Amino acid sequence: MSQSLLDAPAKTTPAEKDPESVIDMSKMNEGQRAALELTEAARESFDKTSFVADLFMGRWTPQKIAKRLKPDPEKRREEEAFLGKLRDFLANEVDPDLIDRTGEVPDEVMKGLAALGAYGIKVPKNYGGLGLSQTAYCRASEILGSRDGNLFAMLSVHQSVGVPQPLLLFGTEDQKKKYLPRVAGGELSAFALTEQAVGSDPARMITHAEPTEDGANFILNGEKLWCSNGLKAGVMVVAAKTPPKMVKGKPRNQITAFIVDTSSPGVEIGERCRFMGLKALYNGVIRFKNVVVPRENIIDAEGKGLKIALTTLNSGRLSIPAACVGASKRCLQIAREWCTDRIQWGVPIGKHAAIAERMARIASRTFAMESMVLLTARLVDLDKKADIRLEAAMTKMWGTEKYWANIDDLMQIRSGRGYETADSLRARGEKPYPVERMMRDARINTIFEGSSEIMRLFIMREALDPHLKVAGAALNSQVAWSERIKTAVGAGAFYAKWYPGLYFPSGDGIPNLHPRLSAAMEYGSKTARRLARTLFHRMAVEGPALEKRQPLLGRLADIGADLFALAASCIRAQELIDEGQDQDALLDLVDQVAAEARMRISESFNAVGRNADKSGYKLAQDILENRYAWMEEGLV
Ligand SMILES: Cc1cc2nc3c(=O)[nH]c(=O)nc-3n(C[C@H](O)[C@H](O)[C@H](O)COP(=O)(O)OP(=O)(O)OC[C@H]3O[C@@H](n4cnc5c(N)ncnc54)[C@H](O)[C@@H]3O)c2cc1C
Repeated sequence: MSQSLLDAPAKTTPAEKDPESVIDMSKMNEGQRAALELTEAARESFDKTSFVADLFMGRWTPQKIAKRLKPDPEKRREEEAFLGKLRDFLANEVDPDLIDRTGEVPDEVMKGLAALGAYGIKVPKNYGGLGLSQTAYCRASEILGSRDGNLFAMLSVHQSVGVPQPLLLFGTEDQKKKYLPRVAGGELSAFALTEQAVGSDPARMITHAEPTEDGANFILNGEKLWCSNGLKAGVMVVAAKTPPKMVKGKPRNQITAFIVDTSSPGVEIGERCRFMGLKALYNGVIRFKNVVVPRENIIDAEGKGLKIALTTLNSGRLSIPAACVGASKRCLQIAREWCTDRIQWGVPIGKHAAIAERMARIASRTFAMESMVLLTARLVDLDKKADIRLEAAMTKMWGTEKYWANIDDLMQIRSGRGYETADSLRARGEKPYPVERMMRDARINTIFEGSSEIMRLFIMREALDPHLKVAGAALNSQVAWSERIKTAVGAGAFYAKWYPGLYFPSGDGIPNLHPRLSAAMEYGSKTARRLARTLFHRMAVEGPALEKRQPLLGRLADIGADLFALAASCIRAQELIDEGQDQDALLDLVDQVAAEARMRISESFNAVGRNADKSGYKLAQDILENRYAWMEEGLV
């Protein structure tokens, strides 16, 4: 395989300059085309491929996620001191059932968190924050997630997508000086992208900002939906359409991110939105009526709004799976206690294999998701500019889905008592395990900050990128024949070298791994090559239609995520063994992670060839045509 080809794509990809050169958009309708153009233009590109990107090309490069940080005892002490105080505060000053019951976060809790510095964990000290690492931020999210979903969501929206993170990445010095001390000190911030017609598709955005004649200000108009923290925020990042840019003689939509003070005339805080869980999220509709926003409040530059949102979310969305780790640890604790205490049919229920299996799965998934979070966070701490797009997207997708599986398993273990509210259990004198509340709070995780479907699309778009670069133009009916033939010849040469390599071991291992961990990694290496072959075969069979085979692509994304979970677990287990933790217990845990991953991976590979995708899609289209209206007859 040509390593240089994989590792050193052009800094500006052809797709970035002109997505139409590698993706055939000729058969798309206007809406599909607009959505794709916008997201393609917002794609980032990097000089080097990441571990996950390599997986899809059949290269097993776990050393890329195994790099360790140089120890910094002073920093470590600061982090531990903050995390300890946060833990104590949540344990002693916060009543999650009260917050859930009333739908309000008490003022003293808000103030207490601000006093701890929890509003500006990553904000550098010179801007009034704690100046802690991404890892510390993820560990704080884990602690919050183990105790209260509302407080986690509030602080995560504030720091991951609200004002701090975009300003840290893209802000001017003036913007940082003006806003970071405010938000780090306890002024809540928010992020407003979603609208009535804009969920996963920002191309449909209506909120717009027009420059004033002198160009000094923009006039913002529109309405945003489901803006978390919006009811309490002093400042928010607002995404709005700005006048289109001309590309190849055609207007192309532009989205720009503005910092908006909520005290500005014309900002109206509308209805509060209420949800099945996260009862105390201060989420609502925000309206902008002729709001004057100074040009200097643009983050980065005009038209960079979506790129900012995507880049911010790379490390930002890690906080959600980190919170899922904390909540999953709580699941494990409750499962262990209840499986020990509850006797049915003469033994504790943990002795019944059907229940024991559920508890084992909670433990293995929790270890794997924590490993994915911590290794990815460490990549950010090693290099703030590291390409963690795929690792973060997979961690979000895998972690949130596996936490949902964990809470579902715990619900079954707790059974009737799982379904009963904590208040009701308490009133009857039983231990008030909050499984019912945790389940309600958990469901949103696979939806916000990039739904699971969008994560799979994103992962597979990046997985296909090397192929699009090599061969995309050859299959594109919009490209001139001479260019198509030239690309086809180049692609032929590339694949003649790359493809045979997929049948032989490649990539590097990790030195000094325990043999049981090495065996799991060996399986990972072999399976990565199979994954790359399968993706290539499907490309050959489906051609450009592959893009439409979402369930199939989703299975390949899932295989990649399981391989990442496995590699991360092996690496972290070895690190913990090296630190003196119980070796046998760790190896048993990773064996379980590996066994479950192998089962899922084998199922996914089998379903690549044998599935119900096409018949299911046809059935769904027939349902849309109302051919099955009779199935809905008799509804009340
Ligand atoms: C509690 C809560 C808090 C939120 N906080 C904020 C916030 O602070 N700021 C903010 O801007 N937004 C916020 N949101 C919005 C949230 O990010 C969106 O709900 C999310 O982006 C999905 O949009 P949607 O619900 O409109 O679903 P849609 O985009 O309408 O999608 C519906 C379904 O179709 C799938 N889908 C969509 N497009 C595709 C495709 N191309 N291929 C395959 N599947 C697809 C989706 O995955 C989803 O399952 C919040 C939402 C909730 C419920």
